[in-house]
Amino acid sequence: MASGGAKPLRETNPPIPGGLETERLFGAAVKPWGIPTFVGVFGAGILAWMAGADLWILALLVTGVGAVLTGIYWLRKRITRQGKVFPPWLLAIPIIAAQLVAAGFAITYHGIDGGMWFALTMMSAVAGQSLDKNWAMAVGIFGGLLVILVAVASGQFDLARSPAIFAGSIYVPVMAGLAGTQRAAAVELSDAANRDRISLLETHNRQVEALINSLQEGLVTTNCDGRVERWNPALFAMTGRSAAEVAGAPIDEALLLSDGSGPLTGIRHPCVAAKGGGVTTGSPLGEPERDLFLVTDDETEIPVTISASPFPIDHTDHGVVAVVTDVSRERGVSEMRDSLISLVSHELRTPLTMTVGFAELLADGAVEGEDARQCAAQIRDATTRLASMIEDLLTTAVIEAGELKLVMEDVPVRTMIGSVISRFPEYSSRLIVDVAPNLTVRGDPDGLEHVFTNLVGNALKYSPSDSEVTVKATAGEYEVVISVSDKGIGIAPEEAERIFERFGRSLSDEVQRLPGTGLGLFIASEIAAAHDGRVDLASAPGEGTTFTVHLPA
Ligand code: ADP
Repeated sequence: MASGGAKPLRETNPPIPGGLETERLFGAAVKPWGIPTFVGVFGAGILAWMAGADLWILALLVTGVGAVLTGIYWLRKRITRQGKVFPPWLLAIPIIAAQLVAAGFAITYHGIDGGMWFALTMMSAVAGQSLDKNWAMAVGIFGGLLVILVAVASGQFDLARSPAIFAGSIYVPVMAGLAGTQRAAAVELSDAANRDRISLLETHNRQVEALINSLQEGLVTTNCDGRVERWNPALFAMTGRSAAEVAGAPIDEALLLSDGSGPLTGIRHPCVAAKGGGVTTGSPLGEPERDLFLVTDDETEIPVTISASPFPIDHTDHGVVAVVTDVSRERGVSEMRDSLISLVSHELRTPLTMTVGFAELLADGAVEGEDARQCAAQIRDATTRLASMIEDLLTTAVIEAGELKLVMEDVPVRTMIGSVISRFPEYSSRLIVDVAPNLTVRGDPDGLEHVFTNLVGNALKYSPSDSEVTVKATAGEYEVVISVSDKGIGIAPEEAERIFERFGRSLSDEVQRLPGTGLGLFIASEIAAAHDGRVDLASAPGEGTTFTVHLPA
């Protein structure tokens, strides 16, 4: 979000570490110390003038010291503003020069006791507050020596004045030393505070990084121009595109989205739209949600939801942050729920209604003899169908829970297929079995019987009532191959994948008219996979279908 009248960054975030921050803090010390020095020297000059000194010397002294101090203050401000560190000698030289001016004044006017002392002390304190400790001491000692030098040079070095001269030569360096030590302590404190701040920021950064990397949801951020900056590992896993690949790319080219009818680019892309305000699941806030798919590197479309919002970058502009959630699982669950509801409301209800109807006829004694027998047969068929549907539902639940258990043994294929065929006594004339004798396969007998009962049942169900269904088993070097072929309606290539999914049925009218749950092939392929085998499909619509089960020998 933009904020009016923002300050330049350097002032709100002082440069780190040490140097510049220190200069910023202590450059200011020249002012409080420099002004009293100037006033002091000025006062001393007035006193000297009253004692008979020339006015021009007084003016020279005041202007000299004033100019030096103002110059230092101005220079320091300029240098630190340019981001440079103030060199100590640059301050030390004018201070020493000012000391010399004061000394010259004292020599000329015999002012060793008053103005001289005051000027040198103040000068040393300025040095201490503004220079580092060693430079402050050097300038202070120089000031102390000047006291003695001035006394000797001006002929004031006598016994009567010696206590004052001695005290002055000690007092001046001590003042400088004290001020220097004070400053050093404050600098140390300020640097320690900076270091703490840096380490706190670094820890904070690492925490945010770990948080983003551990997210299960995809997270992407863009800069002000809508180009990718951050791209977390979850997004890499979802899209197949790595952070390095998409860095700096326009967001609508890196995070490919579609609404099912085509790609979303420009302002239609939620992350572009979010620049102007929050967006959720592809639709600007307050608008109905639309379906959204993430297009991966291999062109797969994953259903996702997206929540995108403006992401502050600096005081004046913002990018976008978006969280991408894969909702395939939720979609799957909701599709399964729909399939289950339609299964219960139609497939299960039909045989149940039939059973109840025929049972009522029998109970009422409304049918007798051959009719009664037919009724009973209808009831038997309907309940058998119900039982098999319920069994398929339960088996699916077991597979879903990952609890499918196989009891492996050597299964004689001919016997197993024989048992499958015997389940369809009324179709025995249509069934042709071609199984090599003595062929055995390692597997779970019940599981295998389930697989072939489904395949043979389907072959009979989805082909004309007078057409043949062939079950053929051969032994290869590494596998046993058992196929079930029919000359029925066939399967369109575009439906070849979905018929192996849960509740997957062909959408053709021919199939929809026939009863079925769409669970049989799903269970068959799962059982084959549990045997380390697979189910293959070869089909031509209108000509027939062959399902081939490959099992390890
Ligand atoms: P169901 O037969 O109960 O619908 P399946 O899972 O056994 O369920 O089969 C899934 C779908 O595969 C069927 O609905 C049908 O569309 C197709 N199918 C299976 N076997 C054949 C076949 N032999 N010929 C044509 N279509 C078949």
